[in-house]
Amino acid sequence: MSHKYKILVVEDDYHINNLIGTLLEADGCQAVPARNFSNGKMLYLSHRPDLIILDLGLPDGDGIGLLREVRKDSLVPVIVLSARVDEADKVEALDLGANDYVTKPFSSAELMARVRSALRTAALHTGAGGSPDGVFALDGLVIDYGARQVFIDQAEIRLTHTEYDILSYLSRCSGKVVTYNTIIKEIWGYSDSGSIKKLQVNMANIRKKLGAEPGKKNYIQNELGIGYRM
Ligand code: CA
Repeated sequence: MSHKYKILVVEDDYHINNLIGTLLEADGCQAVPARNFSNGKMLYLSHRPDLIILDLGLPDGDGIGLLREVRKDSLVPVIVLSARVDEADKVEALDLGANDYVTKPFSSAELMARVRSALRTAALHTGAGGSPDGVFALDGLVIDYGARQVFIDQAEIRLTHTEYDILSYLSRCSGKVVTYNTIIKEIWGYSDSGSIKKLQVNMANIRKKLGAEPGKKNYIQNELGIGYRM
């Protein structure tokens, strides 16, 4: 990586924290290790890192609490590290603005891929500036926000109003896992018992229209039981 990214690693397990530090340094990043909640908060405020890797189970507090603190004033990418297999924790963290999650035990390659992806996405969003009339482009897929038009390899894809709104929203959060609930609130403004089904039907249509094929690299990934990621 060209720019030396500063990455805060909040993890109380000494060995895991060390391992992550070594991986980051090998990738040309600067790792700032924190062993608990209060230390993590202090180092966050003093270092203003480019990314945070955050363990949820900390001895003196819940990582979710630290995520809340960070999100009060910053959009810095946060990757949640959790030993808990419980999906509710991941969903809560994502709804509070975490960008991604990795479940322990994790592979070094997987964690580093997530880190790179989060840093890339963050750089992309800062560069794009989020203009409402701008254009989103990704591997042949182009979304013209001003004209509400979608193209793949220059051929226009016909979407319904709702399908377009969902796709456009996901593209604005690209790189992030977006939970079902967040999408539903954004698109319909409310949720009821049929909302997830309604979302899934729309998503199936969108994926079909975008030419999704099982087992291939598609524009939208399904995070089972949690949400979607563009
Ligand atoms: Ca822990």
